[in-house]
Amino acid sequence: MEFPIKCYDVCPDCECLDCIPAEIIQELKDEGKIPAEIFTKGLAISVPLFDPSMLQKMISETLVGKPKYPVLQIFFAICKDCKRFYVREINLIWQEIQLQMAPMKDQKLPPSRFG
Ligand SMILES: [Zn+2]
Repeated sequence: MEFPIKCYDVCPDCECLDCIPAEIIQELKDEGKIPAEIFTKGLAISVPLFDPSMLQKMISETLVGKPKYPVLQIFFAICKDCKRFYVREINLIWQEIQLQMAPMKDQKLPPSRFG
């Protein structure tokens, strides 16, 4: 599968260009409450695609560089007019495992969320 997968730039139902997350982000930027350089592509839902119980194995098997895990990133919008929820872009990114995420040697692992 090739990423990013482009979906809709405007509402697929009513073709309205305005969406609620973008408007809220712009208002916060205008008020100086958040920096202008963040959320340039709008809001995204990030879903880590790995089994936490495999973390130690992933770390120990990484010989070069830092271990990484795949994250599915779904950029979404909510139409200002008809309130339809639609997807703008889907990405697969690889994030480095932060050391504080790695369990200690004797620490009990949480049960797997994937089966
Ligand atoms: Zn719409």
